[in-house]
Amino acid sequence: MRIQISDIIKNEGREVELAGWVHARRDHGKLVFIDLRDRSGIVQVVFGPGVKEASELRLEYVIRVKGEVKKRPENMINDKIPTGRHEVSAKELEILNASVAMPISVDTDGYEISEETRLKYRYLDLRRERLTKNIVSRHKIIKYIRDFMDERGFLEIETPNLSKSTPEGARDYLVPSRLWQGKFYALPQSPQQYKQLLMVAGLEKYFQIARCFRDEDTRGDRQPEFTQLDMEMSFVEREDVMKLNEELLINIVKSVYPEKKIQEIPFPRLSYKEAMEKYKTDRPDLRTDKNDPNLLAFCWVIDFPFFEKTDDDKWTFTHNPFSAPKPEFMDDLLAQKNIAEILTTQYDVALNGLEIGGGSIRNHNPEALKSVFRVMGYEDQEIVGKFGHMLEALGSGAPPHGGIAWGLDRFVSLLQNEPNIREVIAFPKTGEGYDPMMGSPSEVGKKQLDELGLEIKKSKK
Ligand code: ASP
Repeated sequence: MRIQISDIIKNEGREVELAGWVHARRDHGKLVFIDLRDRSGIVQVVFGPGVKEASELRLEYVIRVKGEVKKRPENMINDKIPTGRHEVSAKELEILNASVAMPISVDTDGYEISEETRLKYRYLDLRRERLTKNIVSRHKIIKYIRDFMDERGFLEIETPNLSKSTPEGARDYLVPSRLWQGKFYALPQSPQQYKQLLMVAGLEKYFQIARCFRDEDTRGDRQPEFTQLDMEMSFVEREDVMKLNEELLINIVKSVYPEKKIQEIPFPRLSYKEAMEKYKTDRPDLRTDKNDPNLLAFCWVIDFPFFEKTDDDKWTFTHNPFSAPKPEFMDDLLAQKNIAEILTTQYDVALNGLEIGGGSIRNHNPEALKSVFRVMGYEDQEIVGKFGHMLEALGSGAPPHGGIAWGLDRFVSLLQNEPNIREVIAFPKTGEGYDPMMGSPSEVGKKQLDELGLEIKKSKK
């Protein structure tokens, strides 16, 4: 049976079978040395003259090896790798597959290679140790979250990706319908409405590792699709949601990143006003030492204004149209007065100067939700047309509820000390929303367009 390379230390003196990729190769004529790599690590394998095929090996060939795990002589120890005190003296070699010469090196950290090239060969790029580690850590974080939520009675529930256009602040991705020609689904900007409807359904505690889609222009470190830890719970107040999330954030750091230090527990809380006055941003970087890669300064920002003016002098929501105002402002919202003064129950969590999550307590009373849209200048008919289902649901015995969503990619990238979220996503797009590996987006044939009843007016390029 094949064992993982990281397990060879436990197998000193035994015969083992390994499988993996030729990571490095030194041919000394009589002896051929290779570094063999699998997902768990690297080990040196030595082939004597008895194993003839060894001279055929090239970088990134896939092989299976049988041999004995031996201690290396004292002067040959390699302290740079965990298996550096051992090597495998190979008796048998099977070449499982050959490989072309690598178009990109996979034995460096990869920062030196252009991103377009890395993404074109992402299946090779992911072979590098740094990226493999990012993927493994991402998995560990998600696994931790799932266990934590499950222990507290949350249900993981999938919500549709073919949804309806919603006003969440960004542009929707639209999907033309073949069966309903001329009509479109929208990919969800977040599962916001569904998770609230799950609360109306009486499921009480929901979470999801949810894919979200927002069609935005290239703006900073964003991706057209990204992942949220999304959650919603019934019969809670702001404090309950914040406490649960703070506990989860602390526990993830303690169990997955024990080498990291959280600067302040409980997390400091600032009002939006305070943050803007003191730090000129609503996601302040509170680190006392910005050079320490293991220092994590979380903080909460609360008491945001509910509404702000748009460029054309209308009111719009600052965060989420489904949020409730702070209880003391409910009367003003219902009467649609003192709009600029109304504060929302919104809470944002920031880490080292970046926003990693945000949520709120929601309006569970349909009149309050109607008022939000009236403030924004929607006619009643329009409100019913777009949000009739939400108003009906809220009027059907909706429990008080609230939730939050984290930008999971950003959180993982901060924990991994990566400069952008693309480094922690297996198959990201470029900053321009292009996938050089699949060549996507791409044109489609006339037959497909005809089926959808679509015609391309004019292509941009
Ligand atoms: N749906 C919100 C967002 O995506 C988060 C929330 O309020 O739960 O930002």
